[in-house]
Amino acid sequence: MSEYDALVRRIRSCTSCTLAKHRITAVPGEGRLDADIMFIGEGPGFHEDKHGRPFVGSAGKLLEDLLASIGMKREDVYITNMIKCRAPNNRDPLPGEIEACRPYLDEQLNMIAPKVVVTLGRYSLGKFFPDESIGKARGKPRTWNGTIVYPVYHPAAALRNSKLRTILENDFGALPLILKNTSTPDAEVENKETKQLGLF
Ligand code: URA
Repeated sequence: MSEYDALVRRIRSCTSCTLAKHRITAVPGEGRLDADIMFIGEGPGFHEDKHGRPFVGSAGKLLEDLLASIGMKREDVYITNMIKCRAPNNRDPLPGEIEACRPYLDEQLNMIAPKVVVTLGRYSLGKFFPDESIGKARGKPRTWNGTIVYPVYHPAAALRNSKLRTILENDFGALPLILKNTSTPDAEVENKETKQLGLF
């Protein structure tokens, strides 16, 4: 069994916090294991809990539309959440629940090693920049341990508020350039090296 499959299996059978008692299915995450972009949401809702897949309800539909607006599909990226089990009545995750799930998310970050992490909403922003507010941090790519972290509003918030939706759509529009810029330093080094070797 691959290291990733073993991780999924551990998440699906996890009993580290009380959410295990309430869930139908844990939702580890899904997508390309070599994805350039990893999306981190808050936690599974009703539909995700039922299907064991992240972002398959209305917020997921919006996420897919946003991806389509930049020429991408959910199969092109990796999608997961801060917590892997649904909280009762979709309440906000508690600090202890986020902490219980932290090792799983850290393993996913290490295994997938995305170029850009897009945090969806305030809880995943809090993992990387705990003292910042989503209103101020959104739309500004930042470096965290050598990875670009790009905070945006949560799609569910955008479904409730059309102003946030417009902002989220614009922030998504900037993603291709942010991704492109992550490869610039390497490309520059390569160019320099080829020039030094007198190849051009
Ligand atoms: N909202 C989230 O944060 N994650 C999901 O998987 C679905 C809705």
